[in-house]
Amino acid sequence: MSRRKTISARLRRQVAERAGHRCSYCRSPEIVGMPMVVDHVIPQSAGGITALENLALACYRCNEFKGARTSALDPQTSEMVPLFNPCVQEWHRHFVWSDDGLRIIGRTAVGRATVEALRLNNEWLVSARRIWIRAGLHPPLE
Ligand SMILES: [Zn+2]
Repeated sequence: MSRRKTISARLRRQVAERAGHRCSYCRSPEIVGMPMVVDHVIPQSAGGITALENLALACYRCNEFKGARTSALDPQTSEMVPLFNPCVQEWHRHFVWSDDGLRIIGRTAVGRATVEALRLNNEWLVSARRIWIRAGLHPPLE
């Protein structure tokens, strides 16, 4: 995509390091065999800038499911709420791992809406997490 060309290698490295080399949404490790992408949290189409304060490391899937959205329905209240913003919000405030580590549970309206919109518990991810748990890679400690 053309928008990726505007992100320098240095900026990408900063984004990846800040994210601990994990997807900022589903927390998948950056070793899944496919390079992660740099997500504009506020999309460029909505005026989002290409700078560290608006960029988040994301797996391809989360980035695709998010698309140009910045809000989604909270499945509990059916209200439109902002999606999780990894640049300014703390992951653990909005999400928690299920006891078996396989699923992400939204703790807040933002968390619940993001779990649904980005399909953070899709069957592929749950299968992968099962393997990562056996390999000692999951759930993330941070
Ligand atoms: Zn992801």
